[in-house]
Amino acid sequence: PLVLGIETSCDETGVGIVRGHTLLADAVASSVEEHARFGGVVPEVASRAHLEAMVPTIQRACDTAGIALRDVDAIAVTSGPGLAGALLVGVAAAKSLALALDKPLYGVNHLASHVAVDQLEHGALPDRCLAMLVSGGHSSLLLVDDITLGVTPLGATIDDAAGEAFDKVARVLGLPFPGGPHIDRAARDGQITIDFPRGLSNRKDLERHRFDFSFSGLKTAVARWIEAREASGEPVPVADVAASFQEAVCDVLTRKAMDAAISNNIDTIMIGGGVAANSRLRALAQSRAEERGITIRVPRPGLCTDNGAMVAALGSELVARGRTPSALDLPADSSLPVTTVVA
Ligand code: ATP
Ligand code: MG
Ligand code: FE
Repeated sequence: PLVLGIETSCDETGVGIVRGHTLLADAVASSVEEHARFGGVVPEVASRAHLEAMVPTIQRACDTAGIALRDVDAIAVTSGPGLAGALLVGVAAAKSLALALDKPLYGVNHLASHVAVDQLEHGALPDRCLAMLVSGGHSSLLLVDDITLGVTPLGATIDDAAGEAFDKVARVLGLPFPGGPHIDRAARDGQITIDFPRGLSNRKDLERHRFDFSFSGLKTAVARWIEAREASGEPVPVADVAASFQEAVCDVLTRKAMDAAISNNIDTIMIGGGVAANSRLRALAQSRAEERGITIRVPRPGLCTDNGAMVAALGSELVARGRTPSALDLPADSSLPVTTVVA
């Protein structure tokens, strides 16, 4: 099926077009620069930017794919979770298209889309896999059989998301927002010299939180380390702090993902969400998986961060499997649970 997907859950206006598992267009307009001076996404600014970018981005995607809107078989849109006002813009646009073109509408879960997108890169997902979702707002380990039917959460962060930790640590290091890519880059020139804490990894915590994460203590530990350094009058070794912090995050994530896969007899780990773009996470996951005979599937970095192709990819799978479309009064749900794939 030819499916157009719309993503507006945060600060990216994304419109993707796919046919089956083939990516035809992935147009993204970001308002990230408008938010940078506030050190975080400003919801009202994001909503306005989506309104302005929506029609041109749809146009650009159609031009790239070489299709006309009337060729599309279905419209998919992120209906949650995300910023309420931002989601509304995408949902309204998708409803208008579905109504005008008389095509089915699928309101889909943003997080399930972060998993489904890998099919554009590596083909159909296996019958059973472990998905590690690491993004700006979420960090979870999910069992996935058929992504169109749902996911089974094994664990999640009990405080900050991994991406949130990257962004907060970047801020204390004086790096621009969003911090993830800047820490990734800075860390390449650094050494892992500081032993920062690995959250929920001691024996007692593992009893209750084997597949959960915690990054808030790590963030505080980094901030304290920098404060102490500044108080002593010595310069802060930004690259070394970045490398050491990044190692603490990637070590815990990959360790728990391997444990979850092995204890559930799963031989494939899919990694999705913005933090999956991190070069150290990709390398460490790859090497630890190889040692254990596990296959890692991670999309190219541009498909890990928010985009419309991921929404179209999930929509395409829903159409292919004959799932029931959403109603035209589909609401935007800022707190849509990860277990609801189609709203
Ligand atoms: P969610 O998907 O939970 O709703 P989101 O959509 O805002 O959150 P994504 O776009 O999936 O988040 O991911 C953005 C996050 O990914 C940011 O926190 C950003 O810093 C982080 N990120 C992006 N690239 C990298 C990288 N190379 N290394 C580490 N983190 C990164
Ligand atoms: Mg973003
Ligand atoms: Fe996301």
